[in-house]
Amino acid sequence: MSKPDKRRRGARCPQCSKATDLTPDNPFRPFCSERCKLIDLGAWAAESYRVPIVEDPTDPDEDTEQQRS
Ligand SMILES: [Zn+2]
Repeated sequence: MSKPDKRRRGARCPQCSKATDLTPDNPFRPFCSERCKLIDLGAWAAESYRVPIVEDPTDPDEDTEQQRS
């Protein structure tokens, strides 16, 4: 984030760090390919799904785990 790499040339894919094209010619920018874009979106989605899930201390499964030990 502190890297001043906003140049159009020499940019790197945030997913695989390969050289990527940030011009409008690249529909997947700032990623180098659709694959990297999907991977990143998938990771982001996974993160966002995790956030709202808070472990419930009254979860019956967890209760069973504690009794087991
Ligand atoms: Zn990539």
